[in-house]
Amino acid sequence: MKCPECGRENPDGAILCAECGRVLVWPRQDGPHFRTSKLAIASTVAGAVSILFAVAEKEGTISMCLLILTAGVAGISAAILGVAALACIELNHTELKGSIYALIGILLSAITFILINALYART
Ligand SMILES: [Zn+2]
Repeated sequence: MKCPECGRENPDGAILCAECGRVLVWPRQDGPHFRTSKLAIASTVAGAVSILFAVAEKEGTISMCLLILTAGVAGISAAILGVAALACIELNHTELKGSIYALIGILLSAITFILINALYART
């Protein structure tokens, strides 16, 4: 980094200029300022909801059609949200994190559809 006072080139991480002793202010690092993608969290939540409904269907507590519909809609939402979150994180990779949540959401939605198929395809 060049010293703004005297123009001398100082090594990375130097606190004071080697020439004039001026305090060097380094550009803020992005690392600690990451935000977790809300889309990714929404994907995980939707995935969890879809699993819950898929399991509730198995127990036959509520109308099966309604539950398959709910689990299906939640599962599709989780997959769409997850893919959208991954795309956003990819585009804003210096600010956003949370791709693990997006992947969990997509995974949960996949499990939901496997569950629905396994449990109800026969009927
Ligand atoms: Zn200097």
